[in-house]
Amino acid sequence: MKLEQKIESQVKKTLKKIGLKKDSKILVALSGGKDSISLIYILKKFGYKLEGIYIDLKMGNYSQRCLDVSREICEELGIKFHVYDIEKELGESMLKIHKRIKRKNKLNSCAICGVYKKWIMNKEAKRMNVDYIATGHNLDDEAQTFFMNILKGAPKLSANTGIITKNPEGIKTGKFIPRIKPLFFVLEEDVRKYAKLKNLRFIEGKCPYSEISYRIELRNFLEKQPEEIKENIIKNFEKIYPRLEKMKDSRMKFCEICGEPSRNDICKKCQLMRIK
Ligand code: AMP
Ligand code: ZN
Repeated sequence: MKLEQKIESQVKKTLKKIGLKKDSKILVALSGGKDSISLIYILKKFGYKLEGIYIDLKMGNYSQRCLDVSREICEELGIKFHVYDIEKELGESMLKIHKRIKRKNKLNSCAICGVYKKWIMNKEAKRMNVDYIATGHNLDDEAQTFFMNILKGAPKLSANTGIITKNPEGIKTGKFIPRIKPLFFVLEEDVRKYAKLKNLRFIEGKCPYSEISYRIELRNFLEKQPEEIKENIIKNFEKIYPRLEKMKDSRMKFCEICGEPSRNDICKKCQLMRIK
């Protein structure tokens, strides 16, 4: 099968499993990388109602370059494009946030970014009244996460991953927008080839501010493994997912400060905002 057909049929199958309806409104989270750029291209080709969002973390020239390609693809495809400017909205660039938090705390830069991005995505998706948020996570990303949780002795954490992140209580109250990963079963290398084949413009390489972490060491290890190994990890994930789902703690609180979904009384983002 040709690469184009292979990937598009993998995405179609995943969307079917998710149960996505044709008239659902999807907010695509664009990072400027090959994954999210290819994702928005494929979803548009399939005829979904889309909007795009780029979270501008204001990390120098890198953020600007990623913003430019994200805007470009939306303009080309005729998709409404939103930019969330962290400096304007929250009063600080991510570089400043990192500095402030790291004076007191040993948190990894990518972990800090991750907390803010999830918080922003959910809040903006609610404001825009969309049904889903779609991210560009691919099979390699997901194999990494599942494998990492096993090595950490916490496979239960993987109950929160998968093709769709649900939160029944949050969805009922309209406070949580489900996140979907249509590229879940697509190999990273295939996404790269697809983006090249379609002449899509994207920013190559990882974020220059990412720090070495256990996840990155694991990514470097998995990168050297044959494709079957990564596919096997995901097959194992699928096998045990029904059991993981039963172990999932689905109680959901809402942050006392910002009202966003949270596991604790105060959400992670508000906890990080409090560090002076
Ligand atoms: P990463 O965690 O950087 O590998 O990104 C995973 C996915 O999160 C990407 O494919 C995007 O869908 C989304 N994402 C990452 N960074 C941003 C950003 N700055 N703005 C919007 N979405 C993002
Ligand atoms: Zn909060």
